[in-house]
Formats: sequence, C-alpha cells, structure tokens
Amino acid sequence: MSMPTIRHVRAFTLRGAGADYHDQGAGHWIDDHIATPMAKYPEYRRSRQSFGINVLGTLVVEIEASDGTVGFAVTTGGELGCWIVENHLARFIEGQKVTDIEKIWDQMFNATLYYGRKGIVLNTISGVDLALWDLLAKVRKEPVHALLGGPVRDELQFYMTGARPDLARKQGFIGGKLPLHHGPAEGEAGLRRNLELLGQMREACGPDFWLMYDCWMSLDVEYATRLAQVAYHDFGLKWIEEALPPDDYWGYAELRRNVPRGMLVTTGEHEATRWGFRMLLEMGCCDIIQPDVGWCGGITELIRISALADAHGKLVVPHGSSVYSYHFVITRHNSPFAEFLNMSPGADQIVPMFDPQLLDEPVPVNGRMKASALDAPGFGVRLNPELPLHRPFPR
Ligand SMILES: [Mg+2]
Repeated sequence: MSMPTIRHVRAFTLRGAGADYHDQGAGHWIDDHIATPMAKYPEYRRSRQSFGINVLGTLVVEIEASDGTVGFAVTTGGELGCWIVENHLARFIEGQKVTDIEKIWDQMFNATLYYGRKGIVLNTISGVDLALWDLLAKVRKEPVHALLGGPVRDELQFYMTGARPDLARKQGFIGGKLPLHHGPAEGEAGLRRNLELLGQMREACGPDFWLMYDCWMSLDVEYATRLAQVAYHDFGLKWIEEALPPDDYWGYAELRRNVPRGMLVTTGEHEATRWGFRMLLEMGCCDIIQPDVGWCGGITELIRISALADAHGKLVVPHGSSVYSYHFVITRHNSPFAEFLNMSPGADQIVPMFDPQLLDEPVPVNGRMKASALDAPGFGVRLNPELPLHRPFPR
C-alpha cells in the first residue's frame, strides 16, 4: 500500500467554550471562587478568569494528506500555538509520510528543546500529534483505538467532575469530583467551609459513592495534610487531586506519606512528557497519574508515560480531553475508568465536553460508554463548520 504524504498543516484559533474549557460565560461553575495559586491575592480569588485562565483560547491543528484526507485536533494553545506550528513545526510535518508519527514527534520535541520542554510548546506538539493520529486512522479507515491495540473492555465507565456529585450519582457515574473553593489564604474559616461542603455531598450521595477534591495546585503540604486527614476519616474522601504546584515533587512525596492509608494522592494534569512523569513515579509522589493527552505530548507520548506508570504499578486516568482520552483509555489495562468533565453551566446536564467545537462527540449514558460509540474512523469527531476559525499566521 502506498502511503499518502502530508501536503499541508494549518493552525487556527477559536474563542469560547471547547478545548479551552475555561473560556466560559458568566456564572459557570468552573469559574466560581475556585482555590488556585493566585487566590492568595484577594483581587484574583473570586474568579479564575480574573487572572487570565482563559487567555490562550483553542488551537485547532488541521493536517491535509496528498490523497485529500484531512486529520485535525483541538487543544489549548490559541495564537501562540498557531505561531509555533506555522513558523517552526511545519517543516518537520509537511512532505513526510502519514505514518511518520514517531519521527515527527522526535523532531518537534528536540527542535524546540531550547525554548520548550513543557507548557505551551508541549500543548502545541500534542495538538499536532493528535491531528497526525486522527489523519493516519482516517487514511486507514479505522478508529484510533484500533491503531493502539484495540479495546481491552466492552465499555468505559466514568466519574464526573463538576459542582454536583449528588447529580452525578443519580446519572450513573461511579464518582464525583468537586473543585476545592477555599485555599490556605482563607484560613480556618475556609478550611471549615471546604469540609462542610464535602460533608453535605457525602450526606447527599450516601456512603459508597466516590467523592474526590480537585485542588488545582492551590495548597501547601501542611494544609493539604490537614484537609486530607479530616476529609478521609469523617467523609471518606477517595482522593486529593493536584494539591500542590506541579514542580513541588518533594512536597507531593511528603503529602503522600502524610495522608491516611487508603486515601489516594493524584496529580499530573499540568505535567508533560515521560521525563516529568518519571519524576512523579520514581519519587513516589502519587497513586494515580492524570496526564492530559492534549498537553503532555499527545498520544505518542502518552503511550510511553502509560508504560512507565504500568511498570511502577500505577494507574493512568487521563485528565478530561474527551475522545482524545477515551480512545486511549479503552485500550489500556491500567486505565480502568475515565474522567467526564461536566461543562454545563450548573454541572447538571450531560453535554459534550468540547461543545460546540466538535460534532459527533459521544457522551456517557448512565455513566458509561460502549466501545462501539468510538468506532468511527480517526477520533470519530468533526470540526463544527459553523465556527469562525481564524488563521493568524497563514503561509
Ligand atoms: Mg484536576
């Protein structure tokens, strides 16, 4: 079979809800006084948009092959990501065979090492990598999960992230993860309010439903330890997520030693590449790693991260990212469940995570998704043609 080559790569931005899922309208649960590393400044405490959590916008990468097939992906990256794709990465992509995914990844990563390694550059490399997997799978007329070895179970099961774990339980999810609202700067009163909300949710959800707290890098070891102790013993908190800044591997190792036996420490959504996750795994920082496939280096790097975690006996439960995660999770034994990020304003409706940017995006039904819901070629989604794509650096 003669493989098509890559004719052109194009990078676009989009504003509003979608891959940059923090770019929501007023009153959305995801911007409601959530604890952050910026919450020590009272003027940035009320809203994450106030300090610019939504400044980047969505990056859309579109890759066209010589036979006319087009693969695409969305991630967070906006204009900065477009600049990197069009001015730097395109040279490693255009003219290559559609099967050259490993070589392209290696060239993109090594050529950007002098200013990359993490952050926006890895978001961008991830977006290109996801678009390459989408393109190859479409050329082969197979779903991406088939290229990854195929499903190891008949369906995915999900926990739900959002402000309403009580509804998540009624909707069939295996657990509910709440955002933490108050950080250390809000003192004892804030800590009490964090525990009260957890207590109310435990009351509403009954004794066996998983409840988790997502702390979005906002705590210190001492505060996180106190929260974990009471939250576990009084309310059965299953895990404490991303309690500390991502660079504080030493703090995570200490926190993991401090939390009650049986409670899990999770992190990794703002970590990137096999080297970042190697630090988390070898230093004993956590029980579950949570790479975001749109930020950690794409599917190509997630395969390596996941194998490393498997060798350490750790679970990989990717952060958000909808179909880009689902196609991976269903092929891995050490990814026994997935996250569903509830993007409805009140966290009370089941809506596609990247709505309105993607069409045909599947959602859980009764907290589950059949493997057959992922059987369309590529990642099985289309870019919504109604949206106003902007290409800031055309070539
Ligand atoms: Mg999180």
